[in-house]
Amino acid sequence: MRILIIEDEIDLANLLAQGLRREGYAADVASDGNEGYACATINDYDLLILDLNLPGIDGLEICRRLRTSHPRLLILMLTARGRPGDKITGLDLGADDYLVKPFDFGELTARIRALFRRDLQVRSPLLECGDLKLDPASKTVWLGKRRLQLTRKEFGILEYLMRHPGEVISQEELLEHVWDAEADPFTTTVKVHLYSLRQKLGDDGTRYIQTVIGQGYRISSSS
Ligand code: CA
Repeated sequence: MRILIIEDEIDLANLLAQGLRREGYAADVASDGNEGYACATINDYDLLILDLNLPGIDGLEICRRLRTSHPRLLILMLTARGRPGDKITGLDLGADDYLVKPFDFGELTARIRALFRRDLQVRSPLLECGDLKLDPASKTVWLGKRRLQLTRKEFGILEYLMRHPGEVISQEELLEHVWDAEADPFTTTVKVHLYSLRQKLGDDGTRYIQTVIGQGYRISSSS
């Protein structure tokens, strides 16, 4: 899951990004409204952490614009204490949740998990492909009765493929969703992680994750 943080208090933004990466998310930071809005429209994020009081385009305006252009993007607003009106306006403009500053990092990650869980429950709480099962909320993967130990990137790749069963997903799309902006798009990182993921799945390239030559990868839609 890839998260964008738009926050002009740069120390706070970097702390949040580091913490979220430790939790297994890909996290990018933008430090003003213009940069943030551009970033959110260029890249494909799953969740946006949005400060409201920003230089450039303010948070409420970003929220209003993105709600129309990116209806699936989850938006968590950060509001300042003592400005209750912002919260109401933000929720009216389509933000999915809010936190009042200062907040506890544990609370932020709990809210994020809840947002992803709620979002997933609309579609499917547990992702399945044959005897392979993935629980996005608890970040666990089971192959039959055996629990697999996957790295963050392996988990991210598998989760993304399993959320799009039957679709061919390109390496670029995997890079967009599983890696953050620090990733070098010219490396063979996706291939390397896919190779180790397949090893753990006991997959020779036909069983779970198929390679579609010249296009990308696909996980079978039927079991
Ligand atoms: Ca601010």
